[in-house]
Amino acid sequence: MTTATGRETRTRDVIVVGGGHNGLACAAYLAKAGLDVLVLERRHVLGGAAVTEEVFPGFKFSVCSYVVSLLRSWIVRDLDLARHGLRILPLDSTFTPFPDGRSLFRGVDPAETRREIAKFSPRDAEVYPEFGRLMVEQARFVKPIIDRRVPDPGSLAPRELADALRFAGHFRSLGPEGLARHLKMLTMSAVDFLSEWFEAEQLIGPMSISGIIGTFLGIRSPGTAYVLLHHYMGEIDGSFRAWGLAEGGTGRVSLALASAARAYGAEIRTEASTAEVLVEAERAVGVVLEDGEEIRARRVVSAVDPRRTFLGLVGERHLEPEFARAIRRYKLRGSSGKVNLALDGLPDFVSRPGDGPHLRGDITIAPSIDSLERAYDEAKYGAFSSEPFMDVVIPSLTDPTVAPPGKHVMSIFVQYAPYHLKGGAETWPEHREAFGDAVLRTLGRYAPNLEDRVLHRQVLTPWDLEQEIGLTEGNIFHGELSLEQLAFLRPVPGYARYRTPIRDLWMCASGTHPGGGIMAAPGALAAREILAENAS
Ligand SMILES: Cc1cc2nc3c(=O)[nH]c(=O)nc-3n(C[C@H](O)[C@H](O)[C@H](O)COP(=O)(O)OP(=O)(O)OC[C@H]3O[C@@H](n4cnc5c(N)ncnc54)[C@H](O)[C@@H]3O)c2cc1C
Repeated sequence: MTTATGRETRTRDVIVVGGGHNGLACAAYLAKAGLDVLVLERRHVLGGAAVTEEVFPGFKFSVCSYVVSLLRSWIVRDLDLARHGLRILPLDSTFTPFPDGRSLFRGVDPAETRREIAKFSPRDAEVYPEFGRLMVEQARFVKPIIDRRVPDPGSLAPRELADALRFAGHFRSLGPEGLARHLKMLTMSAVDFLSEWFEAEQLIGPMSISGIIGTFLGIRSPGTAYVLLHHYMGEIDGSFRAWGLAEGGTGRVSLALASAARAYGAEIRTEASTAEVLVEAERAVGVVLEDGEEIRARRVVSAVDPRRTFLGLVGERHLEPEFARAIRRYKLRGSSGKVNLALDGLPDFVSRPGDGPHLRGDITIAPSIDSLERAYDEAKYGAFSSEPFMDVVIPSLTDPTVAPPGKHVMSIFVQYAPYHLKGGAETWPEHREAFGDAVLRTLGRYAPNLEDRVLHRQVLTPWDLEQEIGLTEGNIFHGELSLEQLAFLRPVPGYARYRTPIRDLWMCASGTHPGGGIMAAPGALAAREILAENAS
């Protein structure tokens, strides 16, 4: 109920600002625990960067994120997401075409993968399975860290000390060799780390790109080896190292979470953009929407990124200068774009003509180590890469529900597209189509019939990701996943536990531990902390 002045009279237990998948996961857990929860989403559609939209009639695009693997299986089970319509279809191969007409296919059949790698280096083909085993081992080690809150190294409280000891014990369990390997991963570049194992650049190039997704770093930049690990943490239905597509597009993850939240009693409103978090006597007491409506709550949870939360919705006047400075320094600087195509047929790759398993997995455009590094060089100086790295998926081959019969959708993740263009971020609209052309031209070198197959295209620059999806500076993870912004440092030291300096204001999205990607872990872990405080 609202008053004549547009103020809702009911005071909610919790308002969640932002209906991305983390906001929805948080809302679902809070509602499940019996709280009165209201989710407010700015757009007409739920999901944020995990969204499906029928951009052209009959063609359903996973507009931003396109593959699912990091989604925590305990959350899928807790919230019974399968019952709410979530189904993951496996996507388990990588195909890399090269400009010289050769290609590399890595799939589920170890013998085939071995033969494929041996084309470039018999020695690498021998080592490859051992490397995979080691990465899975390292990923298993990191997994418990991303599934629980981080210890607060600055606290002497008994519970905190116990957490810190458990954390330290976890590291010790690696043994000296494992620990050394882990430290190497934390500090080395993806190329250097992989070069300790492999010699063929046709293998090192495509493998190294996992280290730069979403970062403003090159494959030779220190620290990128660690991000490789994130890509070995995929887990679907308990099967480690698995990647998949959500049937109906990645928006289905968000819709399943929304359905669970509603089933537990949460209310979700779209086209409800929050203009301000109401702060009174240093506590969050509700929000004001863009249209002036005021809604009160005992707690506000921000499911938008840290910069938008504090410098936008809260306002610097409510913040200590040092905290405001830390938020301003928090690195967002988006580096990725997306091109979604509606096709009237399949692309034909020179190096593997016709249809086949190579079209049903990931298609990586990563011709050589130098070309990937050159793509980064252009971005460093404020231009989009003229020959970008691309990760391509044709979801309609695995999931026919996303395109009309005989037609296809192609999802192209592109790097680098720096938010800060030489002429300023706001000049991106002038360069949007040229960026789209560079993508199609580059891909056309490997699949010359592609351009003729295009019925429609959607080109999203980091500027568009900011304007349309609400990702500040177009950063796909709400902040770089670089070492200085991870674990107890995310988003800023002292506030990695979803709390904020404003009482009763919490954070629950990708700018908090354990970070970006379709994981739902920040949302779920934030809910856990809120409920623990609620109970105390
Ligand atoms: C192009 C691209 C490709 C990606 N590919 C993958 C991938 O393949 N796999 C993967 O795991 N991850 C991928 N990611 C990353 C992943 O999608 C994101 O990290 C994740 O979806 C972020 O979820 P979130 O809930 O934390 O935030 P968001 O999805 O950003 O949700 C925040 C929500 O808040 C809303 N909002 C903003 N301001 C307001 C306001 N004032 N009032 C109300 N609502 C507001 C926004 O509209 C949005 O819905 C990709 C991201 C992008 C952009």
